[in-house]
Amino acid sequence: MSTLSFEALPSEELHRIRSIGFDDFGHAVRVFVNDKEPGTPLRCCLREAREDERVALIAWRPLHDAPDSVYAEVGPVFIHADDCPGYQDGGRYPEGFRHRQQVLRSYTAAGDLLDTTITDGPAAETDILRLLSAPAAAVVHSRNVQAGCYMFAIRRR
Ligand SMILES: [Zn+2]
Repeated sequence: MSTLSFEALPSEELHRIRSIGFDDFGHAVRVFVNDKEPGTPLRCCLREAREDERVALIAWRPLHDAPDSVYAEVGPVFIHADDCPGYQDGGRYPEGFRHRQQVLRSYTAAGDLLDTTITDGPAAETDILRLLSAPAAAVVHSRNVQAGCYMFAIRRR
């Protein structure tokens, strides 16, 4: 059993954003139909979009609990355009992203950057556990290597 918790974007917050049609930074939610498979990585369900799924692009602040940190960047994320079940397997690394090389960044509870590494999917848990073994590490963020966009967060259970 994993000692890690893998966290997608919070469903309640996404429901609120979908309902009002604007993200927390004033951008209209941009909806389109995914036309390729595998499609864009969905931060609500932690898998890649399937062909013909309705997806949306919004801005998101990954350091959601530390908005005053200088590291609290805002950036683009894809989500389902409509309410969805979210990520149902929070004790496990998202297998739909396993083939991706990712940047891992660890942060303190106050949102200061602590450490970084690049991981291949198969070694992800080992790299995450190493980053979280630092006493000050509260959370690790996974980001795309090339575009740099935020994917999901990992904490100790
Ligand atoms: Zn979804």
